[in-house]
Amino acid sequence: MTADIGSPPKADFTMPPGWIHRLPADDLDLAVLLVNSMDMLEDPPDRLTSVQWYRDALRAAGHGEIAEGLHEGDLSSLKELRALLRLVFSATTLEEAAEIVNPMLVRGGAVPQLVMDDDGRPILQVAPRATGMEALSARLPAAAAELIADSELRRLGTCAGSPCECAFVDRSRSGSRRFCSDWCNDRAAAAAYRARRKAGQ
Ligand SMILES: [Zn+2]
Repeated sequence: MTADIGSPPKADFTMPPGWIHRLPADDLDLAVLLVNSMDMLEDPPDRLTSVQWYRDALRAAGHGEIAEGLHEGDLSSLKELRALLRLVFSATTLEEAAEIVNPMLVRGGAVPQLVMDDDGRPILQVAPRATGMEALSARLPAAAAELIADSELRRLGTCAGSPCECAFVDRSRSGSRRFCSDWCNDRAAAAAYRARRKAGQ
């Protein structure tokens, strides 16, 4: 039996701009990447026909160790995690968000552990040594829950650039981000301009 090490990342994999904010990506970025594997502006919209796209995305985001532990048999779990995370990003009340994310934390075993960082300082980390689904199902909901606890729901959003429904984390100072990417922002601005011109004719 050979170990499933997955195919190498596609050389042409390009990270959609605006979806991760640093390298290596943080766990919130990984949640955004997973939710946005369903992208209404792509044809076909669902990139998760296998785990390969997300495995490539994880590697490109600097998380090869999580990618290595992700196997084809994880596809349905990965899609379920994506569906639940989408509900967290689009929740409109704190109660609604808590109702979704709390069972995810319990099921994912998201128990903070005391570990030392690279400088020997103690930090709390969820699933520090896990890879694959074990890491994702603990770390992604934990990151979302932490952000909600810090900022309520203001920093989690879904794109206003219909038909795009992509998720984003609003890291702007004003907290007024509405689009998943500059591209959707520009698309919406162009559509608004066309509508104004038409109305003025
Ligand atoms: Zn968008």
